[in-house]
Amino acid sequence: MKVTSAEFIISNSVVSKCPQEPLPEYAFIGRSNVGKSSLINMLTNHKNLAKTSGKPGKTQLINHFKINHNWFLVDLPGYGYARVSKSAKETFQKFITDYFEKREQLVCAFVLIDVRLEAQKIDLEFINYLGESGVPFCMIFTKADKLTRVKAESNVAAYRKKLLANNWEEMPPYFITSSESGVGRDELLTYIDQINEE
Ligand code: GDP
Repeated sequence: MKVTSAEFIISNSVVSKCPQEPLPEYAFIGRSNVGKSSLINMLTNHKNLAKTSGKPGKTQLINHFKINHNWFLVDLPGYGYARVSKSAKETFQKFITDYFEKREQLVCAFVLIDVRLEAQKIDLEFINYLGESGVPFCMIFTKADKLTRVKAESNVAAYRKKLLANNWEEMPPYFITSSESGVGRDELLTYIDQINEE
């Protein structure tokens, strides 16, 4: 897919106020600083479509962008509170769980994971929450330029092991990306394109 247009539509914190247009929607989510804004800017060929870290006020909103006039890219806030908690409902902000449970247009969620890090508890909890809620999702490993390809692949293999140990039958579809080098961009856009054309 060639991205020919990318426009900001609306930010809000209530799922019911998200755009009503019945376009397929893809949501990007991860822990703060995982590289989500950079990835969205890389995918859309924009320097500043999604605001990168360090700019206050952007985080707690659901941000809709319309791509090529035919699908929505949704930038969700960094998830999770820093406290220990018992259930997904308590761990993840309510409007995030509301979004995943109510947003009918959602086709696929992309969960961003820093490829350099061992599986983090909060990420595993979030992935398990999506699985239990029946939300289709892929994983996006970010910042691949910071590792050799071999090391990145071995970290992904370690992640797969961890998921299998967490009762997953298989690794979800995943992408290895870098916003610096553009690695993974074509694969990700092609994946979205294929789903949109189904
Ligand atoms: P967000 O909080 O998830 O939106 O993360 P940002 O996109 O703001 O990125 C957080 C930090 O990681 C910034 O300093 C980025 O420059 C850096 N970063 C993001 N993506 C990459 C990447 O692919 N490669 C490298 N080397 N740095 C990255």
